[in-house]
Amino acid sequence: MSSKRPASISDLRQRVARARLPGGDRAVTERARRMLDVYLETADTHGLALADVARELKSGTAALRIGGAELEQQATSAALRDAACAPGCAFCCILAGEDGAVIFEAEARALHGALVPLAGEPDGRDWSARACPALDPETRACRAYDARPMVCRAYVSPDAEACRQVAEGIPAPGPGLLGGRAVSLAVQMLARAALQGVATVPSFSLSAVAAAAVEGREIDAALREARHKPRVMDDERKRAAGD
Ligand code: SF4
Ligand code: SF4
Repeated sequence: MSSKRPASISDLRQRVARARLPGGDRAVTERARRMLDVYLETADTHGLALADVARELKSGTAALRIGGAELEQQATSAALRDAACAPGCAFCCILAGEDGAVIFEAEARALHGALVPLAGEPDGRDWSARACPALDPETRACRAYDARPMVCRAYVSPDAEACRQVAEGIPAPGPGLLGGRAVSLAVQMLARAALQGVATVPSFSLSAVAAAAVEGREIDAALREARHKPRVMDDERKRAAGD
């Protein structure tokens, strides 16, 4: 990637066209690249300022809009039609690994904003130690439903028992993410490559942001605590592709 700073949205588009992402699903990467190029072309046509567009890329706003449009197209998919998902069914909110799930800055800010007013109340960890702190431990409903990240919106399963097994670390067929999530992740990584030398594009831990919010910490502290190392986003994308 050239170290010359982009002087226009057109320069950003060229950077996106040249960006190479290691591993992952190539078809998803190329779809994400096309969709991001259309997004940038539209921004350019509407006369948006380069700084504003760069901010949308850095925060993940662009990736979430593009991935969200993809998710809407999947609203009638077989995976959703056959989903066993129901209120109070929350094995998917028991988050794997030390770190929970990968989210972008715009998602982290929205989640934090929704949870801060609930600081000090019982949270999901009173139900299960690894449950998301955004969860209500009694009803097992998401207390930040309208602000829940893309990874939560995209996760579906035809079988709640399979989700329970996955939550216990036992592999089980069925649960998985709709394609909009993989597209948004690839868009964000292309954005990171395009902004190299201009701005850093970090990702954050969902569970760490939620924990900081329900423990009453301000947004800057929450983002500091929850910030990932750069490789985490690469690893997440490779994992999604089964690499
Ligand atoms: S993904 Fe699984 S645990 Fe989550 S609501 Fe659907 S069936 Fe229940
Ligand atoms: S944000 Fe809500 S939907 Fe997502 S893991 Fe946490 S409780 Fe579950």
